[in-house]
Amino acid sequence: MTLEERIKGRKIGILGMARSGMAAAAMADRFGGKPFVSDSARGELLVNQAERLKAEGIPYETGGHSDRLLGCDYLVVSPGIPLNIDILKRASDKGLPIFSEIEFASWACRGKIIAVTGSNGKTTTATLIGGIFSAAGFDTHVAGNIGLPFCEIVPKIGPDSVAVIEVSNFQLEAIADFKPEIALILNLTPDHLDRHGSFEAYKQTKYRITENQTAEDHLILNLESPELMAANISTAARMRFFTTGLAEKASAFVRDGSLCWRDDGAETEIIPCGKIMIPGPHNLQNAAAAVCAAMLCDVEPAVIKKVLQTFPGVEHRLENVGRVAGISFVNDSKATNVDSVCFALQSLPTPVYLIAGGRGKGASYEPIIEHGKDKIKGVIVLGEAKDEIFQALGHAFPVVVVDSLPEAVHKAFEMAYPGETILLSPGCASFDMFENFEHRGKVFKAAVAELKNGKNEHETHANQK
Ligand code: ADP
Repeated sequence: MTLEERIKGRKIGILGMARSGMAAAAMADRFGGKPFVSDSARGELLVNQAERLKAEGIPYETGGHSDRLLGCDYLVVSPGIPLNIDILKRASDKGLPIFSEIEFASWACRGKIIAVTGSNGKTTTATLIGGIFSAAGFDTHVAGNIGLPFCEIVPKIGPDSVAVIEVSNFQLEAIADFKPEIALILNLTPDHLDRHGSFEAYKQTKYRITENQTAEDHLILNLESPELMAANISTAARMRFFTTGLAEKASAFVRDGSLCWRDDGAETEIIPCGKIMIPGPHNLQNAAAAVCAAMLCDVEPAVIKKVLQTFPGVEHRLENVGRVAGISFVNDSKATNVDSVCFALQSLPTPVYLIAGGRGKGASYEPIIEHGKDKIKGVIVLGEAKDEIFQALGHAFPVVVVDSLPEAVHKAFEMAYPGETILLSPGCASFDMFENFEHRGKVFKAAVAELKNGKNEHETHANQK
């Protein structure tokens, strides 16, 4: 079916009036569709969006999803909306097609799609790939979960453009024809078990990224992910593997301390690992993944090297927030699952006071003990999961329970000595106390800034020295 047949004159129900839904409505409108936008939030919270829709003459409803949606030809669902809500269950019982926003956007995408999924590292790797392709001279657009919806950038994508899309499971749950030229699955660890129910269901959703790929396309996988290697993924795409070790099977790998690429038996050194700016073993994996995507598109190794040397990473991911009285502060607010906390612990060279907690996702906190046993000097816990984390870690480390993030920062500062690090790496979602992880990271940084400005009057080890 052509794009026109899919959209022109069709009644398209769009769920969600946040950025993705608004962009989907605009795209539907642009191609002659008849969008109807619906949001369960109260109208007072959606005044700006409502005004914009009114100005465009696009009908909408707030405060609930009405049966009008069931009269549409199909529905487009924003990524934050679970597929098991009542209206979607009824729509699917009726046989109404339900598509995710990336599926919908992909119909109008004329350029190359590079799609990045995995439990951790999606934003970092997608941003890094975007940086490399831009530096190589491609008209590059990075979107997806990153903040810019795919529907919003799609009008700018021409036949020679590259769209680097960060794809979450929520988006993959409702694809039909979404087909990236290059798909990457970075890793698989338990996350969002609250929404997917079982790890098996979660993994099966991730593998859908390759379901429409053909022999012309590439699927890039992490050789170090036991789950991925055991998965036996069925794909028509050509598979490529990356590792931070040395392996016959890998196209991107590390030999003698350098990240290298191998194709048809010929090896190219890309960069000494020590020159890659983003820290830690997990970021070396992300860099290796990006090397695969770039080399498969014939990007010059010198360009990849230059970007890897200068790419500083993304805000709220192991972000260095500076020092107060010789104590370093690291904002890893985006670490919303336990696995990321473990990687953060491995990436930091000094003893650590870990600030953790928030809304738990059903995974065990035990792995923190193994990864933190030689590094963690104390844990400060907060949020809904505080008691659970206290139970899990209390026998291994000193654990202090607090009520707010600024209090956690002050408590950690009291406990720490110069040369040590205070790490916010919550291992939990933020929604119990914050709007989102960005808000949590900003609150952390504000508390650190207060300490820097000398507003802290607590007695600390640092100012005793
Ligand atoms: P995502 O978009 O998948 O959530 P991010 O790049 O935003 O990933 O990083 C999220 C968290 O995971 C951060 O705490 C970061 O330090 C950590 N992280 C980044 N890359 C990896 C990786 N390859 N494996 C494990 N953890 C990672």
